[in-house]
Parts: sequence; structure tokens; C-alpha cells
Amino acid sequence: MTDNDFFRVATGDDGIAVLTWDAQSSPVNIFSEPAIEAYRDAIEQLIADDSVRGVVIASAKSVFHVGADLEMAQAMGKRDEGELFAKIMEINAVFRRMETGGKPFVAAINGQALGGGFEMAMACHARILGDGPKVELGLPESKLGLMPGFGGTQRLPRLIALDRAVPMMLLGTSLKARDAVQLGLVTAIVPDVELIAEARSWALANPAAKQPWDEKGFKLPSGSVQSPKNFQFFIGASAQAAKTTGGHHPAVQAILEAVYQGLQLPIDPALRVEARRFVRIAHSAESRSMIRTLFFGMNAANRLARRPEGFAPTDIKTIGIVGAGLMGAGIAYQAARAGIDAVVLDVSDEAAANAKAYSERLLDRDFSRGKTTQDKVDTHLARIQPTTDYTDLARCDLVIEAVFEAKDVKETVLRAVEAVVRPDAIIASNTSTIPITQLGKFIEKSARFIGMHFFSPVEKMPLVEIISGQETAPQTLAAAFDLCKLLRKTPIDVNDGRAFFTTKVVSSYMTEGMALLSEGVAPALIENAGKALGMPMGPLRLADMVNLDLVVKIDDQTKADLGADYLPHPGMPLSHALVAQGRVGEKAKAGFYDYCEGGPLLWSGLAALSPPRPDQPDVEMVKQRLLTIQMVETLRCYDSGVLKTAADADLGSILGWGFPAYTGGIATHIDNIGAAQVLSLSQRFAHDAGKRFDPPTKLKTLAASDGLLHAA
Ligand code: NAD
Repeated sequence: MTDNDFFRVATGDDGIAVLTWDAQSSPVNIFSEPAIEAYRDAIEQLIADDSVRGVVIASAKSVFHVGADLEMAQAMGKRDEGELFAKIMEINAVFRRMETGGKPFVAAINGQALGGGFEMAMACHARILGDGPKVELGLPESKLGLMPGFGGTQRLPRLIALDRAVPMMLLGTSLKARDAVQLGLVTAIVPDVELIAEARSWALANPAAKQPWDEKGFKLPSGSVQSPKNFQFFIGASAQAAKTTGGHHPAVQAILEAVYQGLQLPIDPALRVEARRFVRIAHSAESRSMIRTLFFGMNAANRLARRPEGFAPTDIKTIGIVGAGLMGAGIAYQAARAGIDAVVLDVSDEAAANAKAYSERLLDRDFSRGKTTQDKVDTHLARIQPTTDYTDLARCDLVIEAVFEAKDVKETVLRAVEAVVRPDAIIASNTSTIPITQLGKFIEKSARFIGMHFFSPVEKMPLVEIISGQETAPQTLAAAFDLCKLLRKTPIDVNDGRAFFTTKVVSSYMTEGMALLSEGVAPALIENAGKALGMPMGPLRLADMVNLDLVVKIDDQTKADLGADYLPHPGMPLSHALVAQGRVGEKAKAGFYDYCEGGPLLWSGLAALSPPRPDQPDVEMVKQRLLTIQMVETLRCYDSGVLKTAADADLGSILGWGFPAYTGGIATHIDNIGAAQVLSLSQRFAHDAGKRFDPPTKLKTLAASDGLLHAA
């Protein structure tokens, strides 16, 4: 057999052929259309070749195989249903040939085996794992709105118990080697160097290997699907899935259906059950939207596709951070984790020490769970230098200001930073609302000044919103991108404006909740409507989390800055009233909610502040208002020039404030709904609720031309 662009095949004297995946045009092994063709031919030839007694499937890359090429998956979604079903069944037929062709197939897994790669491994008669740290088995399709389509929903619950298999597929989580062995999913773990030899031996020792489901009298590991216990399991899983996805995730429902129906059938018709659902899901707007944003968009952002060209990578070995509070300490932790030294300055030794204490807490937790070693903890902590002396910042390549959100405090700090740093050092601000151009006025060489808006908690939140002021130089922007890459954060790139993009839009969601409340809409209805949209929490709960004194402070600052242009928001008087009573939010254990032992509960006193109307509105109207205000504010960010691309709007919305991932992000959602429909919603609410819903120019233009944000 000849080698090709995807794998090589070598047959030893023992008659065992080793098919080694080694994709030439891709850094990882994937199933593209030509790879599938080549694979099918290879399997047929190996089965037909009498000199071959068994087959080991291996990889020459650091991953084993990561499944379907997502460009192919996107293209599949455009195919006619019948054609797509036939294509999926062709792949299933190849896997069935491996299982029933009369020769043992063994997967020698040296790294990640994900999606179709794991499905290929499950179609082998045995799976042997290498002992390297990167070995991982999983079916992550649902994270991109897809479902397994090459037999995963059928083979996994035929190999392991339902209550392990189903959550793995619904959540898209993966298994490390030790868990896979414990579950009985794999035959053995061996040192990497012995992997192929061990797989060979297994094939030689098991010439008549059969899949369990091809044996007579096969029983599912969890017993019949319709046993009372399993029936209960499916009811519980469906209820849980509906609760966590709000019914917005068709793939999750389709996985459950495929497992439930497929497990009542022999494997061949069961594979058809899965394939039919796969076709439906591949055609869904949800999967197309999620793949575009969460795979292609995210990859492009992480590759720094938007970084200005022509500048060498910025050499960043030491960063300075001014302000060792929540954000400063988080940024210091992330820097040290990435191998960057962090000098952290605050007003007192005690305050500065918080930067190290924060890292210590996180590292202690990891250490106690066996996730890190004492050496790594020591190296990490040694990278963080707390100080109160500005001259310590002289050695920094980049300094981030993260002090209180007050312009005068930031002015003092920025001037003091510029006085000590090297002339080529970059200065950044982590402000979440103050325009960068305004802060840049406090810096003489404002070309080297930029906004880098991290999110809390820094070590968990993947996004950084980079904001260029009017004076920011392209080289400074390039350096901010470079720092994101070093810190393993996903950057979006926006222009300056009050509250930029993410803070502006998420604030509109919170304040719209307050406006509804002040109109007499029941708080529980508002909160449930927000959650039913797929938002991580209701607007009032979110406002409590952000803390109401901050919401009020931002409103006061906006009023002072905008003067006659300030548009009073009907939700604000209620926040002012709560703050006046000391109910400033979660930090005070009192805001719109009471924070008691059993969890947050809506405060009963809200009824006195804003008596509920006797005629409560329809929940759909409340949902539409909470969604429309976010879409209108996003489109307003186009009018003001803050947003440059739809891809950034999508990523920023999902990663920044938890806009529901199933939509593919806010710009994609606007496109999917259609500008004409968004315009009509905006006009309706401008009439019913106020001028803040007035259609932005961008919306009117799009609606008039039937245009799309993603086409722009
Ligand atoms: P914080 O109150 O936790 O910490 C601020 C720190 O700055 C304190 O340790 C304080 O002692 C220090 N500080 C104040 N004045 C100083 C000065 N003159 N010199 C040196 N240090 C000084 O605040 P935070 O939540 O970390 O926020 C910091 C910045 O990050 C703000 O601009 C905020 O808007 C922004 N931000 C906050 C969040 C968030 O969720 N908290 C998210 C994104 C951005």
C-alpha cells in the first residue's frame, strides 16, 4: 500500500500493519473529505490483504486524532439532507468494516483522541494508551453545537455506564488516561516508547477479536434502557439539560434522543438513528453560528489575526502593575503563570502584599489537589515582587494601571508611571469605563498608551478587550496583542468610547432589568426572562454582583461628563434608592437580593420600592426587551466607531458577559434574526419604553439594504 498525505502504512514480518496518521498539510490529524476517502481505501486494502493479520492505528503527531475538519463540518451543513446522510453512513460503514472485517484493530493512543478521533478509536477492538500527559479522550462536539456523528453516541454507552457516557457527551468533557482505565474504556496504559509494541502484541494475541456488541447476547453496561433505573436516568438527564440550556441547544436534546433510541436497537440501525439526528443538527443555525465564532473566530483571535503587521514581536519579560486589588493581583497571577515577572505597586506594603497573597491562595489550592509541585509554586511566587516604590517600575517592559475607577486617582498614577519607565515602555490601563483618549491626556507620549480591559476573575476569564485611544500608535496595539498571547488570553480589538463595547452593552442589560422593575414588572419575572434568554443570570442578580454603588458611580460620572447630552435612565432612581439604604449589592449581602445561607433570594422590600402592577406583562415581551436593548447598544457601538468587526462583537459578547453561546454571539444573532426584525423591535420599544431604544443609524442602514454585520 502506498503512503499518502494523511498517513503511512508499514506491515511488519509479524503481519501487523501499523497505519500511522501524519497529516502533511495540517498540524493535527483530522478527518477532511480526502482524508476520509484515503482512510476508507486503506481499511479496505488492509482487510483484503491476506498477509495482514491485524492493524494498529497510531499517530506521528503529538495528538492522536482530533476528529472532523470543522471546515468540512461547516460545508456539510450546506449539503442536501439525503446527501449528507449518505456521506455520514459511508464513514460509519468504514468503522463497521474495521469491527467486522475479521482482523483485530488496535488504537495506540499517544495524545488527544477527540471527536471523530475518539470515535475511530472506539471502533477499534482495543485501545492502548501511552503514559504521556497529553492523553485525553472525549467527544466535545456539543460545545460547538454539534453532536457525535461517527457512532460516538452509540459506542460510548455500549462501552461504559450511561451515567458516565451521557454527561461526557452533553457537556463535551474529556477523560484523562487514569479515568479511562478505571471506566474500562481502554485495555492498558504503557510507557510511550512501548505503545506500538504493546498494541502489536495485543493484535497478535487476539486474532479473532470482536466488538462486544457484535457478540451474541450482548448486554449494555447499564442494562436495558427501559429498566426503571435507566428510565429515571433519562427523565433526570432531559430535565437537567432543559434547565441548563433553556431548550436553546438542539444538539443536547439530539444526543439524548440518539442514545435513548439507539440503545434499544442493534448497532447498525442504531448508527442510522444517530446519523439522522446528526444531519438535523449539522443543518441547525446554532451549530453553524457556534462553529464560526467559537472555533474559527476564536482561533483567528488567538492567532492574533488582527495584530497590526510590520512590528517584530514585543519582548515582554517583566510587567508592572499598579494597584494590587482584585484585578491587579489577578493579572500578576496570570503573568507569573506565563513565566513573566510582575512588579506590583500599591499605596502600602500591606496593600501590595495582596498580589502575592492572591497567587498563594490559588497555588495552595492547586497544590492540595496535586495539580502543581512545590517547585512550581516557589518559582511562581518568586516572579511576583510587591512594592510601594515607583522606581521599581523602571525595569518593566509594560505597565498596567489597575487602581480605583476614578479619573483623578488614575491621573496621579499614570503621571508617576511615565516619570519612571523607559521611553519605549508601553503603558496600559485596565479601566472598564473611562475613555482611553481622556486618560491618555495625562501621558506625554500618549502614542504608547492603550486600554487593556481584563475581566474578573482574571485567571478564569479568557477575554481581554484592547482599546486604542485616538493617539495610540499601531506598535502599541501590537504590543498589547503580544501580551495577550503571552498571557494566553483571547483579545478583541475595539476603538475608544465611553465604556467601550463590553461594559456598555452588559450595563444596558442590567439597567433594562431595573427599568422593567421600576415599571412594576415582578422581579422574579424579569430574572427568569433573562435566564430564559440563555444569559448566565438575571439582570438584577448581575447588577448585585457588579455592585450597585459602582453602577451608580458610573451613572454619576456619565452625567458629569455628558452634561446636556446625558439621557436619564428610568432604571437608575431605583439603584440610587437601594444604595442610599446601604443595599449596595452582593458585597454587602444586600441589594436586589438578600444573600442568606441558602443562596440569594429576591429582597421582599422591592415590592414597597416598586409596587408590582396588577397586569404583569407576557414573559416573551420581557425577554425581547432584555435582548433588544443589548442588540441596539451593540449597533450603537458601530455608529460610534467603537466596534470594528462583527467577529469581535461575537467573541466579546460570549466571553465577556456570557451572552448565550448558542447564538454564536451578538452580531451573529442580529444577522440570524435579520436587521428588519431588529429594527421593528427597536421601534416598538422606543415607542413603549423610551428613547434608549431608538434605532441606531447602522441598524437603519442594514435594514434598508437587507445587509448583514458579518458581510460588512
Ligand atoms: P480594587 O478596589 O480591588 O483595587 C484597587 C487597588 O488600587 C487597591 O489595592 C488600592 O489600594 C489601589 N490603589 C488605589 N489608589 C492607588 C494609588 N494611588 N497608587 C497605587 N495603588 C492604588 O479594584 P479592582 O476591582 O481591582 O479594579 C481596578 C481597575 O480595574 C478599575 O479601573 C476597574 O474599573 C477595573 N476593572 C475591574 C473589574 C472588576 O470586576 N473588579 C473588571 C474589569 C476592570
